[in-house]
Amino acid sequence: MQPRFDIDLDKRYNATVVIACHQCGHEHRHHLRSLSPDHALRCQCGSDISLTPGALLQAQRRVSELKQSYGIN
Ligand SMILES: [Zn+2]
Repeated sequence: MQPRFDIDLDKRYNATVVIACHQCGHEHRHHLRSLSPDHALRCQCGSDISLTPGALLQAQRRVSELKQSYGIN
């Protein structure tokens, strides 16, 4: 199951991934840099909300699109 996630860029353009737990809807914020596909994240409700390698790639792609739309690279 692909987790739902959102991307946030802060003022310094550090990317934060906001991942919503598919069980309880709790949102987890992680710096994109600190995420890796094998790194398992566990929600407070006990479900596994780690990003798949595909989802992580998608997140990275979305970050570069966001940066391009801001005119930075
Ligand atoms: Zn949860």
